[in-house]
Amino acid sequence: MIRRDDLERLAPLARSITGDGVRATLDIVRESLPIEVVEVPSGTPVLDWTIPDEWNLRRAWIADADGRVLVDTDESALHVVSYSEPVRLQMSFEELRPRLHTLPDRPAWIPYRTSYWNRTWGFCLAHDRLDALAAAPSPLEVVVDTTLQPGSLTYGELVVPGRGDRELLVSTHVCHPSMVNDNASGIAALAEIGRRLLDGPALQHRVRLLFVPGTIGSIAWLAQHLDVVARVDGGLVLTGLGDGAPLTYKSSRRGDTRIDRIARRVVTRRDPLARLLPWDPYGYDERQFCSPGFDLAVGRLTRGVHGTYPEYHTSADDLAFTSTERVDEAVEAVHEILRAVDGDDVLVSRQPHGEPQLGRRGLYRALAGMVDSKSTEVASLWVLSLADGQHGIDDVVERSGLAREIVEGAVERLDAAELVELMAPDAPNGVSVGP
Ligand code: ZN
Repeated sequence: MIRRDDLERLAPLARSITGDGVRATLDIVRESLPIEVVEVPSGTPVLDWTIPDEWNLRRAWIADADGRVLVDTDESALHVVSYSEPVRLQMSFEELRPRLHTLPDRPAWIPYRTSYWNRTWGFCLAHDRLDALAAAPSPLEVVVDTTLQPGSLTYGELVVPGRGDRELLVSTHVCHPSMVNDNASGIAALAEIGRRLLDGPALQHRVRLLFVPGTIGSIAWLAQHLDVVARVDGGLVLTGLGDGAPLTYKSSRRGDTRIDRIARRVVTRRDPLARLLPWDPYGYDERQFCSPGFDLAVGRLTRGVHGTYPEYHTSADDLAFTSTERVDEAVEAVHEILRAVDGDDVLVSRQPHGEPQLGRRGLYRALAGMVDSKSTEVASLWVLSLADGQHGIDDVVERSGLAREIVEGAVERLDAAELVELMAPDAPNGVSVGP
């Protein structure tokens, strides 16, 4: 179970793509899960990118000429643009105004802004605080007490051992400060998934859990794990699991992988309002895992979708906006998906090259005498055509629209004729490549 306390402790930390906020986050995870913490030095080339300098926030604030503090990251880490370079200035409100980011439509909320790759600085604040700043005794004292210098990028990783050496990957980003649904809920959910996997019976697959800064973190991990990528049979990117929206599954780039089919079935069965989204190139770290060179079978599970709910990337993404029960429901769904991808038997054809001659085996005659011969015959053809080691009985039922009993009957007869076998997804299937 996700504890409220976990979200309360994780949420306020001043996370960014590097720095002590990420380390403090991983320390909390490590209290209950033996993750390995990996440091990748600034300047390290990773795929087409380079690990940036490390950013740390001590405090950023704006005070008036009387020393009264008007904006302060000690209240919320959102108050400073993430990766702001250090400054200490005295200036008028008019001079400062271009550096102040607000949400005029949501005047009580603080927006979340970052500038990882362009050196700048700025403050984020509730729009309705601007008047107080404008009226405050001038000059304003503006202090961004940050460090931005060579250090490292930090990520967390845990490999839950499996009986075989194939892998499933579950990833969440750990770079958003002071917000609960995106991304404290993903971190708490992934930690809970790890605890449950470690406590439960070993799966056939290893399950690799990644707590990585968004984009640059998954790119760094991929760059350093090219050998692992080839062993990944499927995965999920998690975040935003505690808001009021229904479970929402976004398919992998390929869209019809085993985990896509299983995840779509699991979420729609668990949540009648569940939403199924096709691949699109915008989003979270599924963009990296599914890029053509890796092309992993990695989908994404969220509730609300980034950018589509008003609280997204603002201070209103808080504890009141996020329900632990809904995060728990999502954790249950992830478990069911992982177990099914790991354990549900798949159909493997013994005669995959061309259609086997059913008449010679007495299967045509047997079929012809049956009441529902058309459906039974069609079921056999569906089973044979999907028996590629990637599809199971559920897939045939879904794709064919036939009743489960008819599909199961077809599998039984084809099995008896030694044409099709149901086996664990990782078992050597004996199917040769090419006719
Ligand atoms: Zn986000």
